[in-house]
Amino acid sequence: MTAANNKIRRAPNKRPHPSKGVPLSSERVALIKATTPKGKNHPMWAGDNVGYSGVHIWLTKNYGKASKCMFKNTTCSGKSNVFQWANISKEYRRDVNDFIQLCRSCHAKYDYTEKQREITRKKSIGKVPGNIRSIKQYTLDGKFIKEYKAITHAAKELGILRSSISNALAGVSSMAGGYLWR
Ligand SMILES: [Zn+2]
Repeated sequence: MTAANNKIRRAPNKRPHPSKGVPLSSERVALIKATTPKGKNHPMWAGDNVGYSGVHIWLTKNYGKASKCMFKNTTCSGKSNVFQWANISKEYRRDVNDFIQLCRSCHAKYDYTEKQREITRKKSIGKVPGNIRSIKQYTLDGKFIKEYKAITHAAKELGILRSSISNALAGVSSMAGGYLWR
């Protein structure tokens, strides 16, 4: 090791706390262990409804850190070396069978549930209200035919270009696919 990379840079006011890194004596550790109530008797015990953080602490303590990805031989890209416990039911119960070990990448995909997809969808609807709005189809003499949930639905079903329907709705053109649109 050279003198240059031996240099330790430390901000002058950021000295570690004096007791930091100083291990407790084994007697002290034994005393703490012996006097702290376990599990349900522990003062911080929050029952089975412990929430995300509590149950993860409990899990790591009892079953160790996640160290593999369950999707290793299937969908895992194998790029991540960070492994995590992923909850199956999303109820975060104190039940090891309700957890699987996944890498960070697979975990993110795993947690991206249908519910969250729905939220994302709703958010995107809010941003572009014009894209997903129900539209009504009329004959050229103004008789109502059908209502569609979105332009894309009508376009797909009738084989009309989306842009034609949009133009008709915006008044750029009078009709699209031989129909009036409102
Ligand atoms: Zn993975």
